[in-house]
Amino acid sequence: MGSSADTGVKQWRWWQRPRVLPLARTFVVLVCLSLVLTDGWLIWQARQVQLRSAAADTSNLAQALARQTADMMKKADIVLGDLIERLQVDGTGPEQMQRLQRLMQRQVLEQPELHGLFVYGTDGRWLVSSFGQPPRDISSADRAYFSHHVEQPYGNDLFIGAPIRSRTTGDWIIPLSRRVADAQGRFLGVALATLSVDFLSGFYATFDVGTNGLIDLVHNDGTVLLRSPYSEDALGSNVSKGGIFSRLLEQQPVGTAMLESIGDGVPRLFSYRTVNGHPLVVITGSAKDDILAGWRADSLRQITVVGLMATMLGLFGFYLLHLIKQGQQTQAELLATRDALHALNQRLETQALEDELTGLANRRRLMRALDDELARAVRDQLPLALILFDVDFFKQYNDIYGHSAGDECLRQVAEVIRSGQQRPADLAARYGGEEFCLLLPETDAAGAVQVAEQIRSALQARALPHAGAPWLRLSLSAGVNVCLPQPGVVDDHTSAALIHGADQALYAAKAAGRDRVRLFAEAYEQTPG
Ligand code: GH3
Ligand code: MG
Ligand code: MG
Repeated sequence: MGSSADTGVKQWRWWQRPRVLPLARTFVVLVCLSLVLTDGWLIWQARQVQLRSAAADTSNLAQALARQTADMMKKADIVLGDLIERLQVDGTGPEQMQRLQRLMQRQVLEQPELHGLFVYGTDGRWLVSSFGQPPRDISSADRAYFSHHVEQPYGNDLFIGAPIRSRTTGDWIIPLSRRVADAQGRFLGVALATLSVDFLSGFYATFDVGTNGLIDLVHNDGTVLLRSPYSEDALGSNVSKGGIFSRLLEQQPVGTAMLESIGDGVPRLFSYRTVNGHPLVVITGSAKDDILAGWRADSLRQITVVGLMATMLGLFGFYLLHLIKQGQQTQAELLATRDALHALNQRLETQALEDELTGLANRRRLMRALDDELARAVRDQLPLALILFDVDFFKQYNDIYGHSAGDECLRQVAEVIRSGQQRPADLAARYGGEEFCLLLPETDAAGAVQVAEQIRSALQARALPHAGAPWLRLSLSAGVNVCLPQPGVVDDHTSAALIHGADQALYAAKAAGRDRVRLFAEAYEQTPG
């Protein structure tokens, strides 16, 4: 407590200052917000990491498959090259054909991706194949690979065709073919190696690209040669309108991009890579949903936890703010109560020292002032005067006009006596009943008698009617006493003696006929003894 109550200055603790509340509120909001934002940022970072890692995976897979495809094509091409060389060296006699057929069968057995090996004559009928004796009625003259080599008689390229169903076995195959020519370059037919779609699909399926991922082997013209997971509908379909063929491949032979698949519209992270030395592209794609599934679950857990934390932090923060606010209110109420109490005390104090009827000082205040002024009079060696007034024939007044008229009359008398207070230290008091007192410091006998006389004549001038008085108006008598107390002789009796003297003088005034002023006959300088 202490200083604030004593000085009346409001002293706030830091948390009680009014500006703390909005600051603290902003702080709580900022803390919660930064928690949520940081979490959001971390989640976003985790998403980027997940996508980058998936991009690396699909890209690595595309690279591995492109290399493997290049090797496979090279092996098949070497086989075709061997076949053609033997045909050119050994010719196409029946014995040679039988030997060649055995060789072809061995090759197909050794290389599981090979479905079959064939040699066709100029009319498209096969001369020899890994499947044994050529059937008379089957011609491949209508096949794309055959037309290709017929139409480009001098070309010597390896032709890779779209997937077709084998007329020998009914299986899906990818044809690889080369032109067969004699020493002069004349067209003798076509050598064909067929790759087993079934085997290659099985091989591709061993790579994990997620539930909705895919692996495509695509020809440069956009024709799908193979798709994993195996889809018959996809075989031979064209994806040249997709983002990879229409945009990306033109810019770079290798790349990764998030695209919507043209078939099913699923967004996938695709990596593509051209196959070295062949008009082929390997495409691997992981579905965005698959890639982000784990991240989504983690993020959801994280959001839940952080959300709860932020909520609890916010609630706790605002609860604290509420407490601080309450504290501030209590403090303000306490201060208001203290001020009210202070005012009340002052009023009580005034009331305790004031006469209720007349508003003059009451007897208690008079006695205190008398003690103080006596002490001062001793200190400063100045006279102290005291006048006692008593209304004349007041009993009769009450009897004639009634008690409340008597009260009103006393107020008027009090007003007149108050006019005797001419200096700050002068004090007019109601001594009791219809008796009043005027304390006049630094006033000698002559001065005091003069003041008393002024008051008496002022009341006279008012001419308040009093039917019970001989002069038919209200009057008062006054007794004056003065002292010049000497150091060392002032005690508890000094004030009583001063009053007593004034009373004596008053008595004398009464005795002399009333409506007059008398000075205490023995008004004296109090001397020892
Ligand atoms: P004297 O001239 O000798 O003074 O005659 P007096 O009638 O005035 O006699 P005294 O002073 O003894 O009478 C005091 C009367 O004043 C008694 C009482 O009825 C009346 N009185 C005292 N206090 C009050 C008051 O507060 N109100 C009213 N109305 N009358 C009071
Ligand atoms: Mg009296
Ligand atoms: Mg009287």
